Amino acid sequence: MRISDSQIRLVNGRIEALLAADNFYGKKLKEAGITSVSTPEEFEALPFSEKSDLRDAYPLGLMTAPEDQIVRIHSSSGTTGLPVIIPYTKKDVEDWAIMFARCFEYAGITNKDRIQITPGYGLWTAGIGFQAGCERLGAMAIPMGPGNTEKQLQMMQDMESTVLCSTSSYALLLSEEIEKRGIKNKIKLKKGVIGSERWSEKMRTRIAESLGIELYDIYGLTEIYGPGIGINCKYNTGMHCWDDYLYIEIIDPKTLKPVPDGEMGEIVITTLVKEGAPLIRYRTHDLSRIIPGECPCGSKHPRLDTIMGRTDDMMKIKGVNVFPSQIEEILQAFPEVSSEYQIRISHLDGKDTMRIYVETNGSVNFLELADRIAVKVKSAIGFTPLVKVVENGLLPRSEKKTKRVIDERYD
Ligand code: ZN
Repeated sequence: MRISDSQIRLVNGRIEALLAADNFYGKKLKEAGITSVSTPEEFEALPFSEKSDLRDAYPLGLMTAPEDQIVRIHSSSGTTGLPVIIPYTKKDVEDWAIMFARCFEYAGITNKDRIQITPGYGLWTAGIGFQAGCERLGAMAIPMGPGNTEKQLQMMQDMESTVLCSTSSYALLLSEEIEKRGIKNKIKLKKGVIGSERWSEKMRTRIAESLGIELYDIYGLTEIYGPGIGINCKYNTGMHCWDDYLYIEIIDPKTLKPVPDGEMGEIVITTLVKEGAPLIRYRTHDLSRIIPGECPCGSKHPRLDTIMGRTDDMMKIKGVNVFPSQIEEILQAFPEVSSEYQIRISHLDGKDTMRIYVETNGSVNFLELADRIAVKVKSAIGFTPLVKVVENGLLPRSEKKTKRVIDERYD
């Protein structure tokens, strides 16, 4: 899904503001001599922005609107060094609430619901984003913030909360406490809106079954408003993202070129209307893909698949960066092998080794197939793996997300 004409017009508005503010991105544009873009190709030639650019702008270097229009700042927790400070105008705060309310609506939440909010408040964007969306929708916010499980469970019963907003790990902890205390019949929860962490299908099923609720994944990051820029609908076929506020690209983190819809890569986000700190082509380092086609719900908002990891998950083998999807792509070109495969990396006699296990049936010469795959892999990543062909059905399966890469070097 390439950038549309109306999105390009919005990007040009942001380019103008960034040039006027002369901040890090304004300077990048000036250096490149860019004052506007008119085609998708020109847009795709715009420079990227990185977290390190944002960190270098500390404290208020990202401010793009005049200071008298800035009404709030938020900050992302910097695990290393300086945090990132994101300034918001009144319109940014409102836009975020509109997007968040839309998320709740996509989850079938209404103004009759009572929403228990357990993410943190303060500099962090999470809690206040959930609250603003809830109030905009007209539902009742129960602004708990994190921790104090005793009190959470008491309020959940007394207030008859119908929606739980939390991280997946906290939802799991609460569900276990509810089971342990035998108070399930006093809990009125119907839905969970879960954000900010990657979680397995197994964990998802466990929480949903234990609490007897529907779960929705919410996407977002502090640099781009915060949580609430996308959520899955009841068909659970990926997270619809609000393309009237954002343009999402998926790029190959190695070549930095956009990949076609359906292909995995890094999520890159451009804010289309943000005033306080607009970002153009911001590299999130989150891995996912755009789900092609239309959702059965009829919504035209594009869908992002579950976040599959971070570009930082790229494996470094023999000094070479290897991306699991590279191997998968090669294997897909072999019709004789099944969809299952396993990559094992280990360290033997001072050297990294990679073994690739694939499955096929008895009509194929195993050794010859292994050789052909090894040649293809070598030409793609630069070294020869040990390929082992096994009978169909011998590799492990799990419900949805099977662990396909096992790095034994750090076990
Ligand atoms: Zn949908």
